[in-house]
Amino acid sequence: MSNFYIHDPELCYMDGNSLGRLPIAAAERLQQVIHKGWGTDLIRGWNADWIDLPQRIGGKIATIVGADQEQVIVSDSTSINLFKLATAALNRQQGRTQVIVERTNFPTDVYIVESAIEAANNEFELHLVGTEDQVDFPYEELEAALNDQTALVVLSHVAFRSGALADMQRVTELVHQAGGLVLWDLSHSVGVVPIELDEWNVDLAVGCTYKYLCGGPGAPAFLYVNKDLNSELENPIKGWFSHAAPFKFSLDYKPHPGSERFLTGTPPVLSMCAIEEGVNLVLATGVESLRRQSQSLSELFVQLFNERLTKLGYELRSPVPPDERGSHLSFGHPEARRITANLIEKHNVIPDFREPDNIRFGIAPLYNSQRDIERSVDALEASVRDREFESIQIRNEKVT
Ligand SMILES: *Cc1c(COP(=O)(O)O)cnc(C)c1O
Repeated sequence: MSNFYIHDPELCYMDGNSLGRLPIAAAERLQQVIHKGWGTDLIRGWNADWIDLPQRIGGKIATIVGADQEQVIVSDSTSINLFKLATAALNRQQGRTQVIVERTNFPTDVYIVESAIEAANNEFELHLVGTEDQVDFPYEELEAALNDQTALVVLSHVAFRSGALADMQRVTELVHQAGGLVLWDLSHSVGVVPIELDEWNVDLAVGCTYKYLCGGPGAPAFLYVNKDLNSELENPIKGWFSHAAPFKFSLDYKPHPGSERFLTGTPPVLSMCAIEEGVNLVLATGVESLRRQSQSLSELFVQLFNERLTKLGYELRSPVPPDERGSHLSFGHPEARRITANLIEKHNVIPDFREPDNIRFGIAPLYNSQRDIERSVDALEASVRDREFESIQIRNEKVT
């Protein structure tokens, strides 16, 4: 029995790195929160359950990312959390002048760092390393860019386009040697790649819950602040939920002593409850075991790719060694846009398209199987071999 709601048993869903499937437990939990919580308990729901959701679910995510419970909280979106932590870090690092971001980072991360620099009166300069079409993590370029002016380095653990996995421990150490702080975005690794934030001495991290954690569309994100750093950082968007005692309603602001200081306002209870069920599924299986399944499925994919797809003009755009990849694979093809549409319309296989010519397949070991890999390869093969993509009319949809 699947733990996931399967409406169409024939659907081959390969986009769990953008939006994870719906856990059956989340659908049931939402029904319960709506009818019993919102409908019946009303305001009493806060004390009965809701007020501690950011900490409680944060504590569970902490286990997944190798951190002590109190250092992770769930709040806002990844973009907003990134802004809060990056701005706080820059304030702490005054006197230094440089912020390093990797060029293959998710664009929102780059825009947000620019916003944080603007909020810091442009006293810092953004330095981009690597190239936009880079497949591997640019260790050498990063190392060469670090110096005694480096205030903050913002990186993705797994690159959203290529799937390249950075060596978090090694990079964190390099940044620390230069006296900088490091902020990792875990959006594409949390729940599928083992992470040890405390052991690796990471300063700050943020991440999504709607990808491999299956938290639901637009579910709030999480943030991690190393406990040794927490008291030195100030939330730039402080609100009543960041106060040590929100219900004192005092105009005298006192930051919460814990990572709660990075909360801002009232948590979105319905979305929060849904996240908890996805997180429970990841905890029940364990990240090590999910990683093994993910690697065995992606290795099968790469093997079939080499046997059947390279001769059709496809190119692997992810690192070859399995330990240097996260849980998705990226393939290039000049007709990538039309092939992706053909896969969805004709084969009931859902990957996604990423500009300019990449097709991404997210491998979510909680629900993807060997059969999904075989169907993906069959569909990619038929699309080009039988020139199926030629009959596809491209629709300009807002979300790709
Ligand atoms: C998915 C993702 C985001 C999304 O941010 P939102 O604020 O939730 O829209 C940000 N960064 C990375 C690296 C991602 O993979």
